[in-house]
Amino acid sequence: MENLINEKKTGWEKISEEKKGEINKFADEYIYFLNKGKTEREIVDETIDILRKNQFEDISSKEKLALGDKVYLCNRNKSLYIAVIGEEPLENGLKIVGAHIDSPRLDLKPNPLYEDTGFGYFKTHYYGGIKKYQWTTIPLSIHGVIVKTNGEKIKINIGEDEKDPIFTITDLLPHLAQEQMEKKLKDGISGEDLNVLVGSIPSEEKDVKEKVKYNILKLLNEKYGIVEADLLSSELEVVPSFKARSLGFDKSMVAGYGQDDRVCAYTALRGILNIEKPKRTAVCILSDKEEIGSMGNTGMESQMFDYFISELINKKEQNYPNLLEKIFCNSKMLSADVDAGLDPIYSNVSEKNNAAFVGRGIGFNKYTGARGKSGASDASAEYVAEIRKLLEENDIYYQISELGRVDVGGGGTIAYILANKGIDVIDCGVPVLSMHSPYEVTSKFDIYEAYRTYEMFLK
Ligand code: MN
Ligand code: MN
Repeated sequence: MENLINEKKTGWEKISEEKKGEINKFADEYIYFLNKGKTEREIVDETIDILRKNQFEDISSKEKLALGDKVYLCNRNKSLYIAVIGEEPLENGLKIVGAHIDSPRLDLKPNPLYEDTGFGYFKTHYYGGIKKYQWTTIPLSIHGVIVKTNGEKIKINIGEDEKDPIFTITDLLPHLAQEQMEKKLKDGISGEDLNVLVGSIPSEEKDVKEKVKYNILKLLNEKYGIVEADLLSSELEVVPSFKARSLGFDKSMVAGYGQDDRVCAYTALRGILNIEKPKRTAVCILSDKEEIGSMGNTGMESQMFDYFISELINKKEQNYPNLLEKIFCNSKMLSADVDAGLDPIYSNVSEKNNAAFVGRGIGFNKYTGARGKSGASDASAEYVAEIRKLLEENDIYYQISELGRVDVGGGGTIAYILANKGIDVIDCGVPVLSMHSPYEVTSKFDIYEAYRTYEMFLK
């Protein structure tokens, strides 16, 4: 009997030259996107550029909304809500794809600059779940904004251009690291030791105590017109300065920083760009602060998303009590976030029958959570069947998996926040190797299948 066994195979097998070409073209565009934006603010700027070129308008500029209208709401330059107005009334529900655009990194502390023994350093506070040792001895760049008390906002991006200097965090030489090497991996590098080396030339000014620090401040003042206190009102992020590239002799993969979750953000964005006059109103969320719990006014927990949907209601049709809740209860969503790909070097953390494999298509997690599914948002069997139908009708390669072996660990996404509103949600995204590291790995095949999934779902 055909299809009796659910055979799992790589998507690269028996692939047409035409599809290979499409996959590679899409991956090149994705790599370009990754290299243009390494922080949530930069991704928002770049995305708004793309949206405007594709006839999307700021929702505040629209009085009324009608079928086929394309709008977005930019939330504090850190998250975006995007919609294409559909045929059916909003009360029938929305089709939503939601990803996040913040990635693990090192943030500068409010008082970052100090001098020690002839070196200038920036103190950092890590953001999200990182393995600290991975962030030493690699080239780093500094991105972000400094806002002066007069409201002037200075955008910083240093370490990306070939002509820019880069920064780094030093580590102990093996010859003298006996004690460090005996420590547990998680304690090998402490959070307070993640200090970025930023200079070493002392100022020639006579009456200054910390001459290296003074010299750096002078350089910053010449270049950006700021003084030390202006760093108090800044958001500066230290990220790997290496570029995203094709990986492997066969160029089948992408290596790059921040693919969690910009790989889903980009594929979701590209998906909604293709939507014209959908049946249900199509929505794409690019949220912030997922890596630290989705809190705050730019995180998914924020009321800002509800506000955006209320704006759609007010500008499209008659509002009435309960309409927002009704819309949510009739809505369907793909929570677009990366999945842990099985790494053969560390396959002992995965259970092979229920792992996501790189190169086998988009990965779905019916549920997430840890220790007995605790904290999970669990998609219903009915909803999974509905999604399977869509995938199978469109010949999309997909796999349904768990994050790892039972009790080995766990994780979560924004799925539960939307599920709590009454929306049908399932997690799905591109399987990743070396997740949360400075250089994550994905398969170009899976990226393309994720794009097709998000597009078909929104259609
Ligand atoms: Mn993620
Ligand atoms: Mn993550």
